[in-house]
Amino acid sequence: MTDKSNEFLYRMSRHLRQELADVQKYVNDLYSIEELEDYVGVKDSPIEYIQSALAPLIGQVNDFQDYAETVTGKMELDLLDVDVHAMLDGVMAIADQLAEANPAVRLEEDIEENLPTVEGDPTRLSQALLNLLHNAFKFTEKGTVTLRVTREPNNILFEVRDTGIGIAEENQELIFEPFETVLEDKDDPRLGFGIGLKIVEHIIDLHDGETWFESKAGTGSSFFFTVPL
Ligand code: ADP
Repeated sequence: MTDKSNEFLYRMSRHLRQELADVQKYVNDLYSIEELEDYVGVKDSPIEYIQSALAPLIGQVNDFQDYAETVTGKMELDLLDVDVHAMLDGVMAIADQLAEANPAVRLEEDIEENLPTVEGDPTRLSQALLNLLHNAFKFTEKGTVTLRVTREPNNILFEVRDTGIGIAEENQELIFEPFETVLEDKDDPRLGFGIGLKIVEHIIDLHDGETWFESKAGTGSSFFFTVPL
């Protein structure tokens, strides 16, 4: 895309994000209106319907905004000394929910003890891991998804491994290309916008780390990234 359309995407997604945040706020306000008590917490009531429709929409617009920040160079990190174990606790709490929604897939962790702190943005690093974990669950029908974290001489190495559909060799060069998916069926519910991995790669680039993957069709995939010590 040209610089101009990237800039347009940035402004459009920022605008949509602000508008949706307002809508979310108004919906939240409905919960304190006494007259609406009978609708709150009731499955399929209009309030609950709007609430559950809003969540994925906000997630999608956030992805568009992050992608736009990626391609316009506007993404900025909030650098801190990151306690990796504390960060992984937060990530695993969400990954547990993904596992609950996919009973045929077991979530495993293989996390080295006493990992040192790293300089980084814990929100962005968690986002990168969760993106990979989401994909791992999305593309694995049964088996395991494993989060492995180890210390290397100059880095912390993060790996998300799955026993899912894998990626055929001829498609592997497309994986980090934006808007690409290698799913054949364009009605496949797993079809996304093909920007998640580009965002992960950019977040890790900003941390001076590296991102790569290994995969075999029918066997599974491993996505890796490093964060320098
Ligand atoms: P999307 O939002 O479409 O999932 P991504 O950038 O996260 O976008 O991924 C791009 C494509 O890479 C996916 O559509 C899928 O074809 C492939 N892919 C990503 N992760 C995996 C995985 N763990 N196993 C198999 N294919 C994957």
